[in-house]
Amino acid sequence: MKPVRLSCLACGQMNRVPADRLHDHPRCGVCGEDLLPGKPREVEPGTLERAIRNDDLPLVIDFWAPWCGPCRMMAPEFARAAAMLGNSARFVKLDTQAFPQSAARFGIRGIPTLVIAKSGREIARRSGAMPASAITDWVAGRTGTRDRVA
Ligand SMILES: [Zn+2]
Repeated sequence: MKPVRLSCLACGQMNRVPADRLHDHPRCGVCGEDLLPGKPREVEPGTLERAIRNDDLPLVIDFWAPWCGPCRMMAPEFARAAAMLGNSARFVKLDTQAFPQSAARFGIRGIPTLVIAKSGREIARRSGAMPASAITDWVAGRTGTRDRVA
């Protein structure tokens, strides 16, 4: 079985995980970080862009900012969606206030905006707050995954 490439969202190390071990909370070989924690993780732009280029699993990116009320309201919904789809997509958050250049590079005009990216390209995006069920349906539909652990 072909291993699944997952870069560590903490240290950036590329890890190869046997596909049948994805459910066992695989850890980074360098820093020990949980590679599939089933919850959103804050990322820095460099780490995010490497992961989008190199990972075999899609990334669901929440572009948000601390001052944005709808973003804060959606945060628990995003976390619930991450828990439901935790083994088939990785959910990350990028703080557009801390990293405005990255938001500009992704062409983010309003927040919250969710972007699904894989294999170096954007698959889909949606702006505006969504409930967890809408997020999971959208991500599952756009990534073709049926691995819902609801
Ligand atoms: Zn690591």
